[in-house]
Amino acid sequence: EDVEEDELQSQVFNADLDIEDVDVAEFPEWNKLGKLSVTTLQGLTKLGFSKPTDIQAKAIPEAMKGEDIMGKAATGSGKTLAYGIPILEKMLNNKDQSKAIALIFTPTRELAQQVTKHLQQIGELILKKSPYAIMSLTGGLSIQKQERLLKYDGSARVVVATPGRFLELIEKNESLVKRFAKIDTLVLDEADRLLQDGHFDEFEKILKYLGNSRKSTDKKEGWQTMIFSATFAMDLFNKLSTTSWSKFKKGKENASE
Ligand code: ADP
Ligand code: MG
Repeated sequence: EDVEEDELQSQVFNADLDIEDVDVAEFPEWNKLGKLSVTTLQGLTKLGFSKPTDIQAKAIPEAMKGEDIMGKAATGSGKTLAYGIPILEKMLNNKDQSKAIALIFTPTRELAQQVTKHLQQIGELILKKSPYAIMSLTGGLSIQKQERLLKYDGSARVVVATPGRFLELIEKNESLVKRFAKIDTLVLDEADRLLQDGHFDEFEKILKYLGNSRKSTDKKEGWQTMIFSATFAMDLFNKLSTTSWSKFKKGKENASE
């Protein structure tokens, strides 16, 4: 029965996306993680990624179930796609035009741009036909230009941002606060660095903006949170105090019991 469904999915996407014949059965290592779309598999093949890394194999199945997850793995172990693949699948399946699909935070501009490129590369086929775009919001580009892009281009539904620039943008723009009133997924990449020192207060403010705006517009509780880092200093996370964060922490406590 599973095979039949896979075949059906394959045909639908081949017809729709004009991609070469892809036999999903040729990706046994990736298919163990859950049902990935043919477009994602094609993107992975193009880069020669024949099987998931360890952190990807552990994180992707949980993430695809909608679980909040926390992943710790060394630098270079493929953490970007551990959260990136589930997000690309959401881009493909998303029907809710009013929702931002994912907000990904990284501690530096370079990293945000690197993540954006990596996701655009793997998601190339999805992006070709999807009404959505992946966009980075970082310092170094004119803030006016970013405002214009965000305001008038409704397609940027996956946003990779540094906390400073993101905060600057939403503090000035009520419309952008509304724009991010509904988010499906929140990612903290390099979470330890993200929450260090100067960034901590920025991040706390951002979560308040997101949390407050959501209360008035969205009845659904919380968003899916994915946190990745090479190291974890739990005291940093415990200091964060928003509703969604409490929900996340509660989930984790239950899970570890
Ligand atoms: P991290 O965030 O853990 O430091 P990255 O996500 O930046 O690691 O990935 C490190 C490198 O590994 C990148 O060049 C990426 O393209 C590559 N990579 C990611 N996933 C795979 C995979 N499944 N197979 C082979 N290479 C991969
Ligand atoms: Mg990384």
